[in-house]
Amino acid sequence: MFDLHTHSLSSDGILSPQALVSRANDRGVSVLALTDHDTLSGLAEAEAEADRLGIRLINGIELSCLWQGLGVHIVGLNIDRHHPHMLAAVQAQEACRDRRAEMIAERLAKIGIPDALAGARAIAGDGIIGRPHFAQFLVATGVVPTINAAFKKYLGAGKIGDVKQFWPSVAEVVGWIVGAGGVAVLAHPAKYKLTRSKCCRLIEDFCDAGGLALEVISGRQSIDITRNMLQLTERYQLLASCGSDFHVPGQPWQELGGFEPLPSMCKPVWSFWADRLETLAE
Ligand code: AMP
Ligand code: MN
Ligand code: MN
Ligand code: MN
Repeated sequence: MFDLHTHSLSSDGILSPQALVSRANDRGVSVLALTDHDTLSGLAEAEAEADRLGIRLINGIELSCLWQGLGVHIVGLNIDRHHPHMLAAVQAQEACRDRRAEMIAERLAKIGIPDALAGARAIAGDGIIGRPHFAQFLVATGVVPTINAAFKKYLGAGKIGDVKQFWPSVAEVVGWIVGAGGVAVLAHPAKYKLTRSKCCRLIEDFCDAGGLALEVISGRQSIDITRNMLQLTERYQLLASCGSDFHVPGQPWQELGGFEPLPSMCKPVWSFWADRLETLAE
């Protein structure tokens, strides 16, 4: 069983890379990609644990970019984590995240919520800083009752803390991934809530940049979404990926390995890699 989209506390998940790999193994995942947001820092620890348990770890990353004013996520799979392109990518993305965090905090301060930068940084610890850390800060300080409310009111698309202008383009991000020997996968296309024609334009730009796959399955989703995603892979001759987008234990819609298998007519993204993965798929 393949799970090719997961997070650890190196970004906005809550398990250590080691605990993540161990949980994946317990849940029957035989090929796991760790795809933390804009960082590679959990991969070495994850690889050591995967080797110990005898499961296969795919080096991955989920890179943030900007497409027509919309924040879009592109997963890189099977990248060389030591490649200069990847090191440049991570450096650029971390700088974007730092600038963005400062701006989010400034904006929150202007509407009467002080000290958000220090608060969010303390929660992020050694990991990269993201909106979920601001959300946790807003909950911890009693500004909102839940993480979901924090996104709804302050951090989600179009809200005051939704700062995206620093992110690079789709072409730049795909270029980094391909340059580092990886496959670029358009993450969770259904989550952007685009019209059909706009979604097709995004995919066309992604393909023009060298993108090769899209996530046909992202966590637990409706059969209609799966059917739509399948049609898009057929129309654009794309490979299919699948992953839970796991962040936190206890969320059944986003549990490691907890999703339907890829439809049989898909060409899976791992068909692209070594044959030995085919046998692990069974
Ligand atoms: P960032 O990478 O800093 O832009 O933050 C985006 C992340 O926030 C996503 O990867 C999700 O993990 C998380 N997120 C987005 N919307 C919500 C929401 N409504 N509730 C909880 N987490 C969310
Ligand atoms: Mn996330
Ligand atoms: Mn994402
Ligand atoms: Mn993700």
